[in-house]
Amino acid sequence: CGVFGIYAPGEDVAKLTYFGLYALQHRGQESAGIAAFQGDQVHLYKNMGLVSQVFNESILAELPGDMAIGHTRYSTTGSSRIANAQPALVETRLGKLALAHNGNLVNTGELREHLLQRNCNFTTTTDSEMIAIAIGSEVDSGKEWLEAALSAFGHCSGAYSLVIGTPVGLMGVRDPNGIRPLVIGTVGSHPQRYVLASETCGLDIIGAEYLRDVEPGELVWITEEGMASFHWSPKPERKLCIFEMIYFARPDSIMTDETLYSYRLKLGRQLAKESLVDADIVIGVPDSGIPAAIGFSQESGILYAEGLIKNRYVGRTFIQPTQSMRESGIRMKLNPLKDVLLGKRVVIVDDSIVRGTTSRKIVKALRDAGATEVHMRISSPPVTHPCFYGIDTDSQDQLIAATKSVEDIAMQIGVDSLAYLSWKGMLESTGEDPNSFCSACFTGDYPILIPEMVKRSKLM
Ligand code: SF4
Ligand code: MG
Repeated sequence: CGVFGIYAPGEDVAKLTYFGLYALQHRGQESAGIAAFQGDQVHLYKNMGLVSQVFNESILAELPGDMAIGHTRYSTTGSSRIANAQPALVETRLGKLALAHNGNLVNTGELREHLLQRNCNFTTTTDSEMIAIAIGSEVDSGKEWLEAALSAFGHCSGAYSLVIGTPVGLMGVRDPNGIRPLVIGTVGSHPQRYVLASETCGLDIIGAEYLRDVEPGELVWITEEGMASFHWSPKPERKLCIFEMIYFARPDSIMTDETLYSYRLKLGRQLAKESLVDADIVIGVPDSGIPAAIGFSQESGILYAEGLIKNRYVGRTFIQPTQSMRESGIRMKLNPLKDVLLGKRVVIVDDSIVRGTTSRKIVKALRDAGATEVHMRISSPPVTHPCFYGIDTDSQDQLIAATKSVEDIAMQIGVDSLAYLSWKGMLESTGEDPNSFCSACFTGDYPILIPEMVKRSKLM
């Protein structure tokens, strides 16, 4: 999911949130919503669809306020329906609270029990609403906003980057492992105008300046007095999702002090070092495989070319909820360039193989277009484990590399050769401590404990 928040009295906060969400559209395409705060009043609008389908000028005009939060949803828990769209809104003793969540809690069973004991009601099926209700129930038991939020987080385990609106201010929060990203920006010359966004591309679009990341286990509290910071977790330890870096986030977003474009170029270079092959051209699978393909070409000296053209108006095939929708989506999305490919030995670079459905179709399309050899290079290791922290890589039995060797996968997708980037190569290319990332979908080494029952739902 994508989350966004802005505290900017006097500005058209709903419109700025709309633009922010527009830039974060790649993080979720099922539903979108904005909640604007005008003193004690909250104006909320959310619906199914893309940001541009959900909002128009007249809807945005109905969302006045000094502060707003927004969300684009990609469902990992809870079904894909309007009741699960965010922001979630709850009534409390101190007024309304609106919450936008990116990530996935792993202890919802426990949290549900806890909330039921406190006589809370649920209207949706998401973990995100449970966080909002947990905070609301702490407020109703007599706590102030900050205290209430911090007590509620004590009952939450898993991945959560949150943007929360209250009548007095805006909160930005990351879980103690900072699995999902969240950044802070400033806008205009006024020192008290702050923006929160999942990625820096959400700041760029409204001309906001990137200040810094919200730290793992940090809460920032933005009010008319400015921004205050609280490090509330006793043991914060960053475990940023490496899949954000290799695939999910936009290449123009900055993570770990560089654009992901630069990181992905390095992955491609490293991939060429690790598994060079003799070929005539290197192509990338648009869009996510392109930077690594360019890196591969730079390192290997093999000519880079465009071999597949993507229809920009088809969404991320993965984000469609069913396999059949996914498969038909793939056919609509990519078209090979016959005159580039005819008679050529082709290296095709992609960022990942998850189920193997996309790759098989692409390889067939390249051969149909006349490629004489197809060598696939993947800028991450085999995905062998499901994600429980908010990326929809499905259950383990859907993951092609969970049961098949690289040779078997190569055969199944129909390539002449297949090689993946090493785990070490992927992490060393970050230039940071490998322990500061989650890479569980490549190793099965989950940094946040997953309850047995939850594990059984996705592991073989
Ligand atoms: Fe990211 Fe994979 Fe960890 Fe999930 S399991 S948070 S996708 S690195
Ligand atoms: Mg891709």
